[in-house]
Amino acid sequence: MRLKVKGGGTHLDLQHFMAIIKAGTPMAKMKAVVKTKRAPGAELCDIDIPRPGPNEILVKVLATSICGTDLHIFLWNEWADHRIHRIPQIMGHEVCGQVLDIGDQVKHIKKDDIISAETHIACGHCYLCQTGNGHICINGSIFGVDIDGVFAEYAVVPANNAWLIDANIPRDYGSIMEPLGNAVHTTLAGNIAAQTVLVTGCGPIGIMSIAVARACGATTIIATEINEFRKQLARQAGADLVLDPTADDVAKQIKLATDGLGVDVVIEMSGNPSAIRQGLDAIRPGGRFSILGIPDKPLEIDWGPNIIFKYITVQGINGRLMFSTWHQTARLLRSGRLDLEPIITHRFRLEEFEKGMDLMKSGNCGKILLYPHENVP
Ligand code: NAD
Ligand code: ZN
Repeated sequence: MRLKVKGGGTHLDLQHFMAIIKAGTPMAKMKAVVKTKRAPGAELCDIDIPRPGPNEILVKVLATSICGTDLHIFLWNEWADHRIHRIPQIMGHEVCGQVLDIGDQVKHIKKDDIISAETHIACGHCYLCQTGNGHICINGSIFGVDIDGVFAEYAVVPANNAWLIDANIPRDYGSIMEPLGNAVHTTLAGNIAAQTVLVTGCGPIGIMSIAVARACGATTIIATEINEFRKQLARQAGADLVLDPTADDVAKQIKLATDGLGVDVVIEMSGNPSAIRQGLDAIRPGGRFSILGIPDKPLEIDWGPNIIFKYITVQGINGRLMFSTWHQTARLLRSGRLDLEPIITHRFRLEEFEKGMDLMKSGNCGKILLYPHENVP
């Protein structure tokens, strides 16, 4: 039997595959992008195919995608040196996979199902997990950061983190559902319909936020970005006005576009201190300031005029709600209202991961997908 999956090519014969891994023969190896040293770079290695534990599933990775976190780990910046403890480790956390094997305790997933995955692994028993806040679990760990990730031909995923994908959702979208979930969580963390919105920073997640705000009824969407390539992506995703803080009078243009009032909602997607200050200037009194972007250093804000007297709500956003954000994201994808095609700008084979990392470093890209098995579509 040859397995055929929509959107992909011919897949490995399942019974043959399982016989190989159960026999533990030397053929039971896979290619994986491994962080082997506490230094810049990563290596493509041949390593053993992992086996799922009782509450885990083994997936064939149909598509995976590069996130800014992967770039930080690849480049080995200060954050990575401080945050990553386990080396060697397989990189990557965004995935769409076909289920090949399931642990003894797994009841709700079956072989051949197609999944995406929530990358925050919650303990399930701390105060936060018990009160419906597993995304900020105090004992949480993350794929490709604390445990082996998914830049590989095969990967093991905790069954509770698997998100079954609807047959209508393309496999590439399955891989980017996790960062899309960040955009959905931030954009829908308050009113968005009939609102005027400013998205500061049009990296992949900022661009996704523009698409989500557009799909959910925002009336005016303004974006700020300094990279030409990404300014163009912001326009394609549905921004009405794209401003460049290095060239435009952002404060003046936003006043003009909002009847002198300022925007109802700011969605901060850059982590850049001057973009954050610009957002605080541009928001109307009583507005919502939702922040996903992570500044790389502490930053000073004058709370009185910017927050207290302006009576704004400042909201930190971490990850995705488990799993209400996933339901919202899946519904938006199913509705056909989100066109993610302009956001996916490059597709490479897994072996070409360094090309993807270089592009991410340049900023001249949206989302970059990697394919461990198939030819690049
Ligand atoms: P990214 O780094 O690719 O995008 C940031 C964008 O901001 C870039 O395109 C950059 O050119 C732009 N930018 C820089 N300075 C600017 C300025 N002054 N004005 C306007 N734009 C400016 O990041 P991404 O992958 O799209 O993620 C967005 C942010 O969210 C990042 O800071 C990332 O670290 C963070 N993040 C947070 C979480 C979380 O759970 N809180 C999860 C994922 C990502
Ligand atoms: Zn917990």
